[in-house]
Amino acid sequence: MYDVIIIGAGPAGYVSAIRLSQLGKKVAIIEKEYLGGTCTNKGCIPTKTLLSCAHLYDEIISKSNKFGININSVSYDLNKMDNYLTTVVTQTRKGIEYLIKKNKIDFINATAEIVDTNHVKTGNNILETKNIILAHGSEPAVFPPFNSIEGIWTSDDFFINLKDIPNSILIVGGGVIGVEFATFLASLGKKVYIVELMDHILPTEDLDVSQEIKRSLLRKGVEIYEKNKVIKVEKDGKMYISKIEENGKITEINSEKILLAVGRKPVIPEDVKKIGIEINKGIKTDLNMRTNISNIYAIGDIRADIMLAHVAMYEGIVAAHNIAGENKIMDYNAVPNVIFSNPEIATVGIKEKDANPEEVIVSKFPVSANARARTINEKNGFVKVIADKRSKKIIGISIVSQNATEMIMEGVLAVKYGMTTNQLTDAIHPHPTLSEIILEAVEGVEGKAIHI
Ligand code: NAD
Repeated sequence: MYDVIIIGAGPAGYVSAIRLSQLGKKVAIIEKEYLGGTCTNKGCIPTKTLLSCAHLYDEIISKSNKFGININSVSYDLNKMDNYLTTVVTQTRKGIEYLIKKNKIDFINATAEIVDTNHVKTGNNILETKNIILAHGSEPAVFPPFNSIEGIWTSDDFFINLKDIPNSILIVGGGVIGVEFATFLASLGKKVYIVELMDHILPTEDLDVSQEIKRSLLRKGVEIYEKNKVIKVEKDGKMYISKIEENGKITEINSEKILLAVGRKPVIPEDVKKIGIEINKGIKTDLNMRTNISNIYAIGDIRADIMLAHVAMYEGIVAAHNIAGENKIMDYNAVPNVIFSNPEIATVGIKEKDANPEEVIVSKFPVSANARARTINEKNGFVKVIADKRSKKIIGISIVSQNATEMIMEGVLAVKYGMTTNQLTDAIHPHPTLSEIILEAVEGVEGKAIHI
């Protein structure tokens, strides 16, 4: 008899399993593919590995001459890049395997089928458990006309075919995945087209944030079609001929490949549906991560709420503590969002577009006025701080800068713990660093930024 059976070993599932074991619970985790799930095997880790390769290549081309470093010729080797990618993914997966063993968690590499609220089947074995955690994850959304056209890629297909990446590609969807893949491909000199349905790429971000990235992609030769819809796709030999439309205006795009990046949908198999669990877009839970069935929990992308690995991990921690008898509440108020574009984007808290202008002060400080940015020859981007007009509490930060994804933690702490602008500016920031851009943006709330 297990205390908990977890289905799915992505970031939600494996982190929850480890915490449950630390809390003294007997745990089994069942995974039909690889430990680490989408994030480790075909999501966060492989994309960030490839983006690191592309970033270095970019830096050598754009900066070496200025920095006084002579490089006679620069080229890349997709086979070697692929080897590096495989090494990083394998090491990460093996790391999780080690942790699962170290924590004495039973790992079952099979497809799980829920028999009833206390029994889970794998092959011919029926396992008994007090609790079940659903952590089945998500998969790329595919819809007409793309589901009926042969050879359309989603992010899942990209890594399998890395050695054969095309010279031209149409990316449908200018969200996080679309922009990250466009950044990688355009850095390698591939012809990239992005078609985005909404007013601007990265539609969940503020317009000024999105525009900074749009400019950077345009400089790399990416063609961006916003407010456009793909209405027809035909295949002519090796080429895809796509017709896109904006208010009756039709444009034709010819590309060797089409990558669909229009969101993800939760994986909710029939056995889960059959046990009478409440589902809206994804599995419904309360803030303890408990479903309508008291001994069944759901964490990560299967909830179809905030589909981010770091949120999934924390939901796994919250579920674990509640199963262990505590009352731990999930707090979604200060979730960082990170996009590995070039420059990077990182945000937390409220966006300017969602704030009431009467109630907030918005302060922006440019990357170009920061000394450390000058030393690394960077001038694009800014930090934007949103503070409550009366209390001067910091309620939102958006960063567009190199290293934004690392810098955002200061903002997460400020928003989560309701820090005021004075509390942040009284903390001495090291010089010269990019973190001073945050300091000066916060000083700007009171009109007191020094270097502008
Ligand atoms: P997304 O929701 O971020 O973006 C999808 C985009 O496609 C949106 O901009 C949407 O307007 C557009 N779109 C939808 N239908 C369209 C159509 N028919 N034609 C043109 N455009 C269309 O989804 P995603 O980029 O696929 O990412 C999936 C999930 O994975 C997201 O939840 C994302 O947060 C997560 N993810 C996170 C990271 C990260 O944290 N760095 C990286 C990759 C993915």
